[in-house]
Amino acid sequence: MRRVFIRFNNLLTRLRRRRISGDNLLLLVPHCLQDSLCTQEIRRDINHCRRCGQCDVAGLLKIRDRYGLLCNLAGGGGQALACARRPEVKAVVAVACERELTAGILAAFPRPVLAVPNMRPHGPCRDTAVDLARVERAVLSLLAPAAPSA
Ligand code: SF4
Repeated sequence: MRRVFIRFNNLLTRLRRRRISGDNLLLLVPHCLQDSLCTQEIRRDINHCRRCGQCDVAGLLKIRDRYGLLCNLAGGGGQALACARRPEVKAVVAVACERELTAGILAAFPRPVLAVPNMRPHGPCRDTAVDLARVERAVLSLLAPAAPSA
C-alpha cells in the first residue's frame, strides 16, 4: 500500500512539472545509509564523509555537488521534516524506507517530494543502500534547465 502511495505521489509530482534551481532543492539522506563500521561523524555534518566509497553517502555527495543541491542527513522523521520545512527548500528528493517516505510526503505537503525508497539487504535501519541513478533521475526531473551561457 505504501509503495502504491509513493508511486502515485511521484507521478503527480512529476506531472506538476515544478522546476527549481539546485539551491532550492533538498537532497535528504537517511543516516542508515552510512556504513555501520564507518567512524566519521557525518550525523553532525555530512561533509565529514571522507568519500571512501564504502557506502552510498559518497555517491549522494557527488550528486549534490554536481547539481549544487542542498543536502542534509537525517537521523529520523522529525529531523527530516525540520530540514524539509526550511524556508529556502522548495522541493525535496528524499531517500528513506517506505514508512518514513509516506509520513514525510504527507507532512511536507504542499512542497513537492520525489521519494526514492532505500534498499535494505541487511534488514531495516542498518547498512542500507540506494539506487544512485534513480536519485539522479529524480533530481533532474525537478531541476530547472541551466540558463544558456551568453
Ligand atoms: S562513504 Fe566512507 S566515509 Fe563516507 S559515510 Fe560511507 S563509509 Fe563513511
